[in-house]
Amino acid sequence: ALDKLFPRKTLGFFPSPIHKLERLSAMLGVEVWAKRDDVSSGLAFGGNKIRKLEWLVADALAKGCDTLVSIGNIQSNHTRQVCAAAAAVGMKSYTVQETWLEWDDPVYDKVGNILLTRIMGGNPIMGGYGYSTTEKDTWARALEEVRAKGGKPYAIPAGASDHPLGGLGYANFADEVAMQEQQLGIFFDNIVVATCTGSTQAGMVVGFAAQEKRRRVIGIDTADDEAMTRRAVTKIANDTSELIASKGGQRVVVRDADIEIIPDYSGPAYGLPSEQTIAAIRTAAEMEAMLTDPVYEGKSIDGLIDMAKKGHFKGQRVLYAHLGGAPALNAYYKAFEDPEN
Ligand code: PLP
Repeated sequence: ALDKLFPRKTLGFFPSPIHKLERLSAMLGVEVWAKRDDVSSGLAFGGNKIRKLEWLVADALAKGCDTLVSIGNIQSNHTRQVCAAAAAVGMKSYTVQETWLEWDDPVYDKVGNILLTRIMGGNPIMGGYGYSTTEKDTWARALEEVRAKGGKPYAIPAGASDHPLGGLGYANFADEVAMQEQQLGIFFDNIVVATCTGSTQAGMVVGFAAQEKRRRVIGIDTADDEAMTRRAVTKIANDTSELIASKGGQRVVVRDADIEIIPDYSGPAYGLPSEQTIAAIRTAAEMEAMLTDPVYEGKSIDGLIDMAKKGHFKGQRVLYAHLGGAPALNAYYKAFEDPEN
């Protein structure tokens, strides 16, 4: 329905596939399904930013911009997808690649997402330190550099989140899920989703709140800062609801209780896996050949498995939103080294 209110540039294969995780369900005694936004685009391995960028890129093209400028960690999936989207529509991209964490690996700044960005002809600018979703000097300088060269930049914040259109992709995801539920004749009582810069969960909260039958959207924090994540999700959910209403769409009231952030699986820090994260990644890989990464999806699948084992989903159906991230695995080979193998 949002397609009727806002311009959208197709960058993915939507609706993304949805399927039951048979072996994991049997092990947990809970029906667990996955919605595979990790395989929903042909653009450089895709991921959740492709879904968001469909709306931002349409806006950039309408405004006559020729360069996407964004920011993220060195191994950011987001900046890789910004670069991919730019390549696919014939734009340039500049991406500031900051150091958001200390992971001692000599190829961390060479393999995985950053390698793909280089292959796609992106312009990664190495520099900057520390995670924050607020505006950064480095990002402002990159925008200025594009202008100085006569280009017309389009600014995309970290995670495409704190942007007026950032929540639309995942508000629309909710409609997609409802359509697939109707086809399958089932209902998902719970959605489990990794959350960091916030617009994925925020969009879902708004999209699902517009539906008659209510369900839980359970955000597994990966920023390792529950308060910051909650602030980000709350702001984007409210802004997205306002924006949709301003175009004649349904206005939803976002209640505090709708924004569920689970802080228990984010440690020891953003981008650093715990032993439990690694164990959960191995479980999903060994039982379903479903690859998850140590930064985001490894933490959300850990949360899903642990909460299921603790009886949180008794008699209910769970949908795991797989948001991508596996390209970063290359930079984390150390976490999986096994002296026996
Ligand atoms: N999962 C993956 C693979 C991501 O790349 C991101 C990006 O930050 C997230 C989850 C979190 O999504 P968001 O930043 O919209 O909260």
